[in-house]
Amino acid sequence: MDPQGVDTALKGVLGGKAAKALGDKLDLHTIGDLLRHYPRRYAKRGELTDLDELEVDENVTVLAEVERVNGRTIDRRGSKRMHLLEVTVTDGRGRLTLTFFNQSWRERELGVGTRALFAGKVTDFRGKRQLAHPDYVKLHGDDASAEQVVDDYAGKLIPIYPAGGGLQSWTIASCVKLALEAVGDPPDPIPSDVRASRALLDLRQAFVAIHRPEEWDDVNAGRRRFRFEEAFVLQTELALRRLAARSLPAKPRVPKPDGLLAAFDSRLPFQLTEGQVSIGEELLHDLAQTHPMQRLLQGEVGSGKTVIAVRAMLAVVDAGGQAVILAPTEVLAQQHHRSITALLGPLAERGLLGGSDQGTRVALLTGSQGTPARRRALLDAASADAGIVVGTHALLEDKVQFADLGLVVVDEQHRFGVEQRAALTQKAGDTPPHVLVMTATPIPRTVAMTVFGDLEISTLTELPRGRSTIQTNVVPAAEKPGWLDRTWERVREEVSNGRQIYIVCPRIGESAADEDASSPPAEDSGRPQAVAVLDVAPMLEEGPLQGLRVEALHGRLAPDLKDQVMRRFAAGEIDVLVATTVIEVGVDVPNASTMIVMDADWFGVSQLHQLRGRVGRGQYPGLCLLVTNAAAGTPSRVRLDAVASTVDGFELSRLDLEQRREGDVLGADQSGRRSSLRMLSMIRDESLIREAREDASAIAEADSTLSHHPTLASAVRSLLDDSQAEFLAKS
Ligand code: ADP
Ligand code: MG
Repeated sequence: MDPQGVDTALKGVLGGKAAKALGDKLDLHTIGDLLRHYPRRYAKRGELTDLDELEVDENVTVLAEVERVNGRTIDRRGSKRMHLLEVTVTDGRGRLTLTFFNQSWRERELGVGTRALFAGKVTDFRGKRQLAHPDYVKLHGDDASAEQVVDDYAGKLIPIYPAGGGLQSWTIASCVKLALEAVGDPPDPIPSDVRASRALLDLRQAFVAIHRPEEWDDVNAGRRRFRFEEAFVLQTELALRRLAARSLPAKPRVPKPDGLLAAFDSRLPFQLTEGQVSIGEELLHDLAQTHPMQRLLQGEVGSGKTVIAVRAMLAVVDAGGQAVILAPTEVLAQQHHRSITALLGPLAERGLLGGSDQGTRVALLTGSQGTPARRRALLDAASADAGIVVGTHALLEDKVQFADLGLVVVDEQHRFGVEQRAALTQKAGDTPPHVLVMTATPIPRTVAMTVFGDLEISTLTELPRGRSTIQTNVVPAAEKPGWLDRTWERVREEVSNGRQIYIVCPRIGESAADEDASSPPAEDSGRPQAVAVLDVAPMLEEGPLQGLRVEALHGRLAPDLKDQVMRRFAAGEIDVLVATTVIEVGVDVPNASTMIVMDADWFGVSQLHQLRGRVGRGQYPGLCLLVTNAAAGTPSRVRLDAVASTVDGFELSRLDLEQRREGDVLGADQSGRRSSLRMLSMIRDESLIREAREDASAIAEADSTLSHHPTLASAVRSLLDDSQAEFLAKS
C-alpha cells in the first residue's frame, strides 16, 4: 500500500469493523485522529502498576500478577447455583480482586504467577476494590491475537490508551500499529526551521516516539513536540488576530492639552501611583494610533484601575468622542456611576447651573431603570450630551446608540465574552472603537498569553500608598466554637469604633431555585447545605449582633432596592451587610474594615481573594475571617489556609489554576470529547508557550495569509472548527 496521509479514513487501513468501532466509540475517524489519540500512561514489563492509586469508578488498564485463585460454587436462594471465580492480583504490595461468574475455565488460564494487562471499571465491594469481569491479555499468552501486539513490546514501554466503549487498550494499540505502518511522512504543521531551532521531533518521529517508545526519553521528546505544536497553532491564530486588529482603521483620539483630562487631574484628591501614571501614558499613546487599542489592564484588587479608565475616557471626550464603561453587575454599574460622577464633580454637570463649561455628563444605563430615566440616558448617549456612559449588559441592546463612540472599557472582564465586546464595537459605526479590558483576577502570564492572547497586556502591581494591609484568619467553627463567638464580639468592637462589616454567605436561602448566578452550585450529595443570607441575617440581628443595624443584600432583591441598600451602606447607615457574592467584584466602601465569609470552603480561591479585597480599602486595616467547618488537613481547609497565608493575587491565581483542570481554565468543555489542547498545561509549559508565541508571531508577520505554510493554515482551521476551541470565542 502507498503511504497514506493523516486524513485517510481508518476504514481503508484497518478494515471496516475496527474502523467502525473506533469511529462509534471514540469518535476517531482518520489516521490522524487515531495517531493523536495519545497513550495516557505507559506500563513497563517487569514493573507492575501501582494498585493503591486506583480509584473507584475509574476505568483502568493495569499490569499485575496473579497471586491467588479461588473458584467455588455458591447457592443463591431462589436461583440456580453459580460458579464464582475470585482472582487476586497484586503489584507486590496492593491488591485487587477480579471476579468472574460462571467462567470456571478461566481458573486454568489465570494460574498463580500469570502476568497480564487487566482492564475494567474499579468498583468497591465491601470496602475492597475489585474489577468485575475484566478483560485481560496475558503477557506471554499462547494464542496469537491481541497478545501479539503486547508481545511486540518486549522490553519496551507498553502504551496504555484511554479506552472506552468496550474498546480495550490493547485493541487500540493494534490499530495504532497498523496506522503507523500505513502513514507515510505526513506534512508537519511546524515548519522545519522552527523544529530545528527548538530541537523538536518531526511529526512522524513524534508519532513513533509516543506510540512505540523504546524508553522514557522517547515519550518525553514526543510529548514535548505535541505540546509545542498545540501552543504553536493556537499562538499562530492569536498572532493573526493581533495583526488583523492592527490593520483595522480607528480614529486617533488625542486630548486637548487644557481640556477635561487636565481639569480632572488637577482636582484629583490623591496622587496617582507610578503605575497609574505610566499605564495612563501607555493608554494615551494607544488612543492616538490609527488602529484600535486592544489592551488588557490587570491589577490587584484595590490597585486603582477605575481612575486609569476614567482618565482614558476623558481623553477621548476631550478629543470629541464618547466612552462607555461596561460593568458586570448592576451594583457595580451604579457604584461606578456614583464614584465617577463624584470624582468629576462640577466637570460632570455640563448644562447644569454651577457646572463647568468644558464639562460633560455621565449617563447610567441599566436593565432595571424606569422608562423615563432610561429614555433620558438613551437620548444622552445618542446626542453626545453624555461623554461617558456607564452601564450593564443593557448597553449591548440594539436600541442603544452613540453619536461617536471612541472607547469601550470592560470592567472585570472575566464575566464578559468576546461576543459582547463585539456587540459594543459595532455601535461605533464603521471604525471600531479602542478597547480597554480590566480585570482584578490576576492571571499568570501564560494564561493571559493564551486566553487573552489577542490583547496587549498592562499590569498594575502596586497599591496606592497608605493602603492598609489585610489580615486573614481561618475560623474553624467546628473545632473551636469559641472562636465564632469571638468573631461576633470582634464585629461589635469594629462597629463601636465606627467601622462597617460585610458578612458573606454562599446562599440566599428560602428558595433553592434561584440562587445568585455567582453563588457556588448547590451541592449534590452528602454535604450539608451552606448557610444562607436569609437565615444568617435575622439570626445575628436577634442574637449576637442585637442592636446593630444589620441588613441583607442579594440577587433576588429588586434592583432599585439593591442600589438603595448599597447606597445606605456606603453612607454609613448600615453597620453590617449580610450578602451573597453580589458584592464580590469592585464594591468600594473605604469605611468597611471587616469581611467575614461564612462556610468559606464553598468559595474558590480567586473568589475569596476578591471578597477580601472589599476591605482594607481606606485608612483602616482590613480583617478577613474565613469561617469553615472543614477539618484541618482536608483539601478545602488547605485552600483556605493558602488564602490566609498570602495577599498576592498572582500567587493565589496560580494555586487556583493548579487545583482546576486545564479545561476549566480555558472555559472549554471537557465532557470527554476530544480537545484541541490535549497535552499543553498552562502552568507546566510556561516557557514552551513563550517560545511558541515568539515563533508564531514571526511567522504571522512574515506570512499573514499563511499561504507559504499550508499545513499550519489547515491546523489553525481545524483548531477553529473544533468545538473545544470555544474558549477562543468566549475569551
Ligand atoms: P480596583 O483596581 O480594584 O478597581 P478602584 O479603582 O476601585 O480599585 O480603587 C480603589 C480605591 O482606591 C478607590 O476608592 C479609589 O478612589 C482609590 N484610589 C485609586 N487610586 C488611588 C491613589 N493613587 N491614591 C489613593 N487612592 C486611590
Ligand atoms: Mg474595579
